[in-house]
Amino acid sequence: MNVAPDFEAFTNTVNGDQRSALKAQRTIDPSTKRALWPVPIGSTQDIEDAIFAAQHAFTTWSKTTWAARQDVLSLMHAALQAQRENMAKLLTLEGGKPIQFSEMEVDHSLRFLEFNSKQAQIQDVIVQDDDELHLSLRYRPIGLVAAICPWNYPLVLAIAKIGAALITGNCVIVKPSPYTPYSILKFTELVQPLLPRGVLQAIHGDDSLGPYLCAHPRIQKISFTGSTATGKKIMSSSAQSLKRLTLELGGNNASIILPDVDPGVVAPQVALGSFLNSGQLCVASKRIYVHQDIYDEFLRAMVDTVRSWKVGPTSGFVRDLTLGPVQNEMQFNKVMAIIENSRANGHRFALGGDRDEAHPESYVIAPIIVDRPPDNSLVVTSEAFGPIVPVLSWTDDEEVIERVNNDVTGLGGAIWTSDQARAQHFADRIETGTVWINSIEKPLPQAYFAGLKESGLGGEWGEQGLLAYCKVQTIHRYKPAVTI
Ligand code: NAD
Repeated sequence: MNVAPDFEAFTNTVNGDQRSALKAQRTIDPSTKRALWPVPIGSTQDIEDAIFAAQHAFTTWSKTTWAARQDVLSLMHAALQAQRENMAKLLTLEGGKPIQFSEMEVDHSLRFLEFNSKQAQIQDVIVQDDDELHLSLRYRPIGLVAAICPWNYPLVLAIAKIGAALITGNCVIVKPSPYTPYSILKFTELVQPLLPRGVLQAIHGDDSLGPYLCAHPRIQKISFTGSTATGKKIMSSSAQSLKRLTLELGGNNASIILPDVDPGVVAPQVALGSFLNSGQLCVASKRIYVHQDIYDEFLRAMVDTVRSWKVGPTSGFVRDLTLGPVQNEMQFNKVMAIIENSRANGHRFALGGDRDEAHPESYVIAPIIVDRPPDNSLVVTSEAFGPIVPVLSWTDDEEVIERVNNDVTGLGGAIWTSDQARAQHFADRIETGTVWINSIEKPLPQAYFAGLKESGLGGEWGEQGLLAYCKVQTIHRYKPAVTI
């Protein structure tokens, strides 16, 4: 498949060793539907061994100096940098991204490692210090973190968790999505020589693995990125042992386009923000609200932009594609059902709408823009997580804010206008954890990221996100002179 030989064999990492298993599974390349390499399905014994190893490793790793952990993250950065090309190819094969976007994912993973390696040590907070009392808060590592990851950005979303958890002194067991195990298993293997045994482990498993980790009493924290439905299950199954939780979940994000923008400049960017990775991006714009005054021109510019893109299977790592296939059959069928629903309800397709017969051997879906479907239609109310986007019109500020907020999720959103004060007014009213103003939805390692409403619980990334990997201990130290 045109990747380096070292990148064609995959194992779990348990206690510093590469482990195969009695049972193996192959996932598919979504561009061809052909099976990729076998990957071991971890057993219960593998998980127990990993938990035991992590507990042991934590006793020393949590006491290493912050500077030593920074050095390790820098070395991990160098190890990934050295394999940038191979890792990008793996991402294209397992996820279907055009190769240049896979390279961007590797680069973004590198930025997360670099960001975390350069974070200053978290200092104690002195609440009170007088003749009587020294009252302080200390931030200490939580212990063993299970990082449960999705398939849409399998490397960067895992590495963002790993970087923050390790720098703060925790040990991590990564559970990749069963759809995309390859890149993160390989990364974990590559960096083993840089870490004490048991500090970073990765286990691919079947559907029982995630619930097993969530129910396990010796795992102290779950950091989960995935769907809202699974997030709710994890919250429930983690309750038994009162685990610390970070839930980064789905979102039906809206872009609001004000009438003062130039459609020729903004529409191409909004189109990219909607369709990047074939819409399989948690913060992608999934509803576009365009002011009535510029609606026709904006829609035309958006359609022209998307029509100009080349869309197809990413086989051969060709570089001229903007969009590849959706990642798996479940997602393909979900998007198809939404298209079918729009068709059945007589929605107008400004672009696309037919199954792309040109690529029956793959999960490619030609991008679709739906012109002003009703607000209560499936294409508006659901997170398609695929290359289909509704464009809607609005006239009144209050009306559009209400429509945008009329959703159970609250992950991200974008506002486009040259009027900074008006943009801020909108941002203040939008019920989402992140708002982008005059930009597509680009998450950054230095920006705290959290979903509101059913888009999440807690948050991570950025300096503030490190606290999600710490427990706070309050120390009341009375001065000897007043101690009885
Ligand atoms: P998913 O919820 O189906 O799966 C995510 C992970 O959870 C997988 O590793 C899966 O094996 C595991 N899992 C499934 N059931 C489990 C259970 N009962 N207990 C423990 N683990 C379990 O999500 P997905 O389809 O992989 O990802 C797509 C979704 O993720 C979309 O909704 C998207 O918006 C969301 N997402 C959110 C963010 C964010 O940062 N907020 C980022 C990327 C994706």
